[in-house]
Amino acid sequence: MAAVAPSPVLEIAARARDIVGPDWVVTDSAQLRVYECDGLKNQREVPGAVVLPGSTEQVAAVVRLCHERGVPFVARGAGSGLSGGAMPNAEGIVIGLSRLREVLDLDVPNQRARVQPGVTNLRVSEVAAPHGLYYAPDPSSQQVCTIGGNLAENAGGAHCLKYGFTTNHVLTATVVLSDGTIVELGSEAPDAPGLDLLGVLIGSEGTVAIVTEALLNLLPKPQHVETLVAMFPSSETAGEAVSTIIAEGIVPAAVEMMDRLAIDAAKTQTPITWDTEAALIVELDGPVREVQSQFEAVTAICERCGADEVQVAASPAERMDIWRARKSAFAAVGALAPAYLVQDGVIPRTRLPEVLNGIRALADANGVRVANVFHAGDGNLHPLVLYDNKVEGEQERAERVAIAIIELCVDFGGSITGEHGVGVEKVCSMSKMFTGDDLTTFDRVRSAFDPDGLCNPDKLLPTPRLCGEVPGFHHTHRVEAAGLGERL
Ligand SMILES: Cc1cc2nc3c(=O)[nH]c(=O)nc-3n(C[C@H](O)[C@H](O)[C@H](O)COP(=O)(O)OP(=O)(O)OC[C@H]3O[C@@H](n4cnc5c(N)ncnc54)[C@H](O)[C@@H]3O)c2cc1C
Repeated sequence: MAAVAPSPVLEIAARARDIVGPDWVVTDSAQLRVYECDGLKNQREVPGAVVLPGSTEQVAAVVRLCHERGVPFVARGAGSGLSGGAMPNAEGIVIGLSRLREVLDLDVPNQRARVQPGVTNLRVSEVAAPHGLYYAPDPSSQQVCTIGGNLAENAGGAHCLKYGFTTNHVLTATVVLSDGTIVELGSEAPDAPGLDLLGVLIGSEGTVAIVTEALLNLLPKPQHVETLVAMFPSSETAGEAVSTIIAEGIVPAAVEMMDRLAIDAAKTQTPITWDTEAALIVELDGPVREVQSQFEAVTAICERCGADEVQVAASPAERMDIWRARKSAFAAVGALAPAYLVQDGVIPRTRLPEVLNGIRALADANGVRVANVFHAGDGNLHPLVLYDNKVEGEQERAERVAIAIIELCVDFGGSITGEHGVGVEKVCSMSKMFTGDDLTTFDRVRSAFDPDGLCNPDKLLPTPRLCGEVPGFHHTHRVEAAGLGERL
């Protein structure tokens, strides 16, 4: 009887053992389930195998095997993504970067850190702290999420209002292309000539290359910080205050909002005692005198816009409590309902009051509860749609409301995602924001890096396989662009 050839995935797994060592390849079906999804729990796929390389060269060697056999692969950091970006392909390989978690070099005079992709966001600031430096992008998941995942998602956070997103803090990235070639994108020199290929990589959701090293810009810790919480009778009045603060030329380090439901959730995890419909957290940082004058102006604006009370963090510990309340709110909402959907949309911040009203109307009309906790200064909303998955029909109702909220954001001139990415969750909504020509252009650029479509396929850009007919999508683009890919 003729021997049955092993599947390409199992063949790659066997050969990868020689590259990364036998302990770093997972093919056991129970262990593979650990990798079946990210933070988007309602979409799952068990991968064919998981490989955990220990160096850039090992990543490249494993990718070369995938390229040889035409097997798709997906990079995975901490799996904290909320849009299914790290969801595996059943016939593909997961390349986990968790072993690459060193800060390789801290260049204090130049305020830079060279890091591996699996290092957590918070770790970079911890290592820089003794030198009076920190890494500015601060996603709420910063204790667990990785720099590789941050680059892929162009992660933001509370302080990105003043300091910008990941893309503003990365100088270079070493990446492995889909044929296993190792290249460096970006430049240590400011404003280098040429096309911004690093800009294409950042926010590409793992679809153009695997990041194996990054050079990050660090900032000096601000001289002085003041944090206040203003209590408002409604989310709408708090929204007015946000627009007024920015319109008056003040750029706080952060402006975050939590509504009553989100506050109630946070109370289950933190010592806050706020009793209000909407809490506006405003943080100001910079030289002492500048912060003090802005602080007085912000307090006056909040009072003018109807704040009943303004509390000030009187110590670093109180400031930490405020931020713990804000950053724990997503997870804490789990205490209020058996299940919830996290939504992520953007609107022009001047439209906050109208959109918050619209969200409430949608929630009431569908009989579901929606908690709001978000980056108000950026107009980046995170409505959390609560439901009971044991009650028939509730999940469908919650999903309907979540989609309607995003459509509302687009109707108000906003976007389908602010910082959680498109992933698989919103891939079919891309055509709501972009024309067929736009999508074709994106696909051509992506194909220049990955002509064979092996690098995290079916994410970010709609494909006929996932979304049915897609305006402007032609498979031939991958072939047309292949020549360009060779020249990268
Ligand atoms: C409670 C909670 C709060 C959150 N708050 C925020 C927030 O404030 N701001 C924000 O922006 N996000 C937030 N997120 C979302 C998430 O943490 C970020 O998107 C984060 O950047 C994902 O990092 P990760 O290491 O977990 O990546 P993963 O989830 O593992 O992967 C995310 C994407 O990145 C790709 N990827 C991972 N590593 C690499 C690599 N080395 N090279 C190329 N591609 C790679 C994956 O293929 C995937 O497409 C939050 C998530 C949770 C659960």
